[in-house]
Amino acid sequence: MVKWIEIIPRPRSNFIRVKCSECGNEQIMFNYTSMSIHCNVCGAVLAESTGGKANIKGEIVNILE
Ligand SMILES: [Zn+2]
Repeated sequence: MVKWIEIIPRPRSNFIRVKCSECGNEQIMFNYTSMSIHCNVCGAVLAESTGGKANIKGEIVNILE
């Protein structure tokens, strides 16, 4: 019997935890984004949209599956 979990394709996007290079705030976001993501604390750009995988400006602390 087929296990359904095995035939579901892996999503191409992951949650990542990014540390703001300006204030050190850590924030969770997708690594694929259609818009720029700003730090909740200081407003610095954490990720820029490139039309696909985000251009991460801060430090990636962790990748959450
Ligand atoms: Zn910040």
